[in-house]
Amino acid sequence: MTPPIVGVLLFRRDLRLGDHAALTAASQECDKLIPLYVLDETAARPAGAATKWWLHENLRQLETALRQRGSGLAYAENDTCGMLSHLAQSADVTRIYLQHDAEPQALALETRIHDWAMSAGIDVRRFAGQTLLSPTNIATQQGKPYQVFTPFWRTAQSQISAERLLSIPSTLPPLPDLLPTTTLVDLPLLPYGEGQWTNGLARSFIPGEAAALKVLDRFIHEDLRGYAAHRDRPDMPRGTSRLSPYLAIGCISPRTVWRRVSDAIDHDPSLSPDGAVFLKEIGWREFSHHLLHHFPFLPTTPLRQNFSSFPWRSTARMPDAARDLRAWQQGLTGFPIVDAGMRELWKTGWMHNRVRMIVASFLVKELLIHWQEGEAWFWDTLVDADPASNVANWQWVAGCGADAAPYFRIFNPVLQGRKFDPEGDYVRAFVPELRQLPAKYIHTPHEAPPHILQEAGIKLGTDYPPPLVDRTRARARALNAFKSLNDG
Ligand code: FAD
Repeated sequence: MTPPIVGVLLFRRDLRLGDHAALTAASQECDKLIPLYVLDETAARPAGAATKWWLHENLRQLETALRQRGSGLAYAENDTCGMLSHLAQSADVTRIYLQHDAEPQALALETRIHDWAMSAGIDVRRFAGQTLLSPTNIATQQGKPYQVFTPFWRTAQSQISAERLLSIPSTLPPLPDLLPTTTLVDLPLLPYGEGQWTNGLARSFIPGEAAALKVLDRFIHEDLRGYAAHRDRPDMPRGTSRLSPYLAIGCISPRTVWRRVSDAIDHDPSLSPDGAVFLKEIGWREFSHHLLHHFPFLPTTPLRQNFSSFPWRSTARMPDAARDLRAWQQGLTGFPIVDAGMRELWKTGWMHNRVRMIVASFLVKELLIHWQEGEAWFWDTLVDADPASNVANWQWVAGCGADAAPYFRIFNPVLQGRKFDPEGDYVRAFVPELRQLPAKYIHTPHEAPPHILQEAGIKLGTDYPPPLVDRTRARARALNAFKSLNDG
């Protein structure tokens, strides 16, 4: 009699059952299967606090969905290879199934798993799914990685597979008898004194694959039409899809998003202009992954190397720079659109893309603080924190990344506010102390006449801070810093 095939399905940033090639193969090929999640902080940049909360909530959903199909979810902390080795011995595991992840640290873990498995005589089966296309398969005619989005996207689009999506298996192979005893609550994912802060996140995003599919369906049916015009408007709460937290940890596959939106366009061609703009945004996600895979130094080093000597104001050595960073983090800069964005981030774990660009530009240009400080704050507080998209976008805003706007193009937070939040509804939603200000002064409370401030119940400097910087001087300082780079 042939011995039963026992497999491990290693979940990583793919916390779903649908369109999951590794799960589909494992459920067809194994007699017994151990779905496993390892919180391995030795093999990746430790997740930020918001992501950890989001992970916790989504693992709970995933575990329930697996149980409903006759399986379950085993957990472990750190040392993925050690755990796999333990399971190989204690549960006779002979196959490991996983979804390939081209992020450099995830890839390094795959290599270690592969090397260990070779020596232990275990079969490792890897499947695609983290991105629409493998970053390794796309190159310029010279065989180099792309650094400009438009030609990248032209090539990438022509290669996206039209294969059918994989459905959620209705049953799964049973678990073996002996399993690790670690449970979800044993993983250090929830912050100490959890409560107030995570409640705000929980009010903003419902975890789980079913919720992700609902968000996608509602977006396609109700909000895709008009996306091109609405996507830059933070005052329109449904102007964008809000799928990023689900994509970041793989509750939904990018292929599912792509396929469903493309099908909607095929079904109703009048959706095509908005659909194309939306799919291009998915393209920016692909481009970010492509960049991080080919330039693994991006989290610490600018892509444009001349930026290495940029004269940032050091928050470690300059107390006033540290104070400015804190004001930015807390949403107390005196620039309402910046403050609304930073408070939206703290309150909900998410921030509108247009506002991400405004607050990031303000930090690196007006305050001259290193983009890595902003990237780290976003990493800690975003529920959609993604190693590739976060770093690529911060470098893009700072002017030192791929396809970046030139450094001397500096967003004016007042003009941006007036253009994209014309009535000030977004500011009012997140900066309640300014709620009574008329639209004319909502982006410039410091310019409002005393009687207007009084009628709105605001004392500048007491209820709301005056501007942290004089924009004209800050702009000149930024341009000088940039000039020193070019002169040097
Ligand atoms: P939609 O407009 O509905 O777009 C659909 C999807 O396309 C998004 O869910 C996302 O997966 C992708 N997408 C859209 N814009 C971008 C972009 N510029 N770069 C990469 N992918 C994009 N996105 C993250 O997912 N994680 C991050 O950590 C992250 N950090 C950022 C940091 C800065 C400084 C900036 C300027 C942008 C960052 N973004 C990040 C990109 C973007 O802001 C978010 O993806 C978007 O706001 C998510 O909202 P949505 O799902 O409603 O987007």
